Amino acid sequence: MARVYNFSAGPAMLPEEVLREAAAEMLDYRGCGMSVMEMSHRSKAFETIIGDAEQDLRDLMQIPDNYKVLFLQGGASQQFSMIPMNLMKNGVADYIITGQWAKKAYQEACMYGKARAVASSEDQTFSYIPDCSDLPIDADADYVYICENNTIYGTKFKTLPNTKGKTLVADVSSCFLSEPVDVTKYGVIYGGVQKNIGPAGVVIVIIREDLITQDVLPGTPTMLRYKTHADAGSLYNTPPAYGIYICGKVFRWLKAQGGLEAMKEYNEKKAKILYDFLDKSKLFLGTVRRQDRSLMNVPFVTGNAQLDAKFVKEAKEAGLENLKGHRSVGGMRASIYNAMPIAGVEALVDFMGKFEGENL
Ligand SMILES: *Cc1c(COP(=O)(O)O)cnc(C)c1O
Repeated sequence: MARVYNFSAGPAMLPEEVLREAAAEMLDYRGCGMSVMEMSHRSKAFETIIGDAEQDLRDLMQIPDNYKVLFLQGGASQQFSMIPMNLMKNGVADYIITGQWAKKAYQEACMYGKARAVASSEDQTFSYIPDCSDLPIDADADYVYICENNTIYGTKFKTLPNTKGKTLVADVSSCFLSEPVDVTKYGVIYGGVQKNIGPAGVVIVIIREDLITQDVLPGTPTMLRYKTHADAGSLYNTPPAYGIYICGKVFRWLKAQGGLEAMKEYNEKKAKILYDFLDKSKLFLGTVRRQDRSLMNVPFVTGNAQLDAKFVKEAKEAGLENLKGHRSVGGMRASIYNAMPIAGVEALVDFMGKFEGENL
């Protein structure tokens, strides 16, 4: 068996311990005589799995009691419509456009009400986070929306926008559980888990209780109402049970690593190795404004598309996979989520140094 270092932006690496545990429990989950995949979602065993997963996530993020944790389906993209359908009571929402995912969310919201783009970094290919300290927030805005970590471009909000008292909604798909967060600063935090937590098919929504109401846009389907899932403890219908089970294992793994403070320290150490190399390199160039650099997604280029392609190919041969940048931007991108060990980043930097020596 040869596991590679997988730098994919998502689905991405999972901790090897988690995969091993899941493999050991595949045929017979703890004496149940069946796999979690084969189990009723109404069974005692699954009730424990989802209950423990929620509690461990609450412990990790210190989620206050007045927030619900929902395990839903439809990916992060489903939330692009679910958010306006449920939250646009005045029919107005302000969006900060820092990349493709924020833009898609904004475009979706335009179908449901007056969505306004109040800031954007599209003028420089989303390579920075705009100043959000004094934006023209609409007095009627139901919420202000951000994509906190921009997976494709490698930028991250280091300070949250000044929403002027309006509810903050954040897509944290690619920075979920990478560092501590103050949940009370948000109305909604959500993310697809396939970036930094678990297998594709689960999206986690952490939502303040007062935002969960009957009063949703006309025509909102039952399945797209937060209230449906909040009232049913994420068991209104069959949930993505196996995915939730793996997420639960990752939460426990994160606790064993020392929680989110420890992950932040580890992630900073990992990212520094790569950014320090890029800052010194004569061949490779990081594409993001320094103060806005993500700890999770690190895009870089050589400035020569052919050389970029050669790098990606040779890196793969060396066991460093999925370093090709997003199809919309080209170049390279190394995604170094929680489960990427420091040895993986060291191997990448060693390889980049060698490639630089051969190709400069
Ligand atoms: C990947 C990603 C999405 C889309 O996720 P899906 O689960 O495929 O819908 C949305 N937002 C961000 C920040 C992402 O990284």
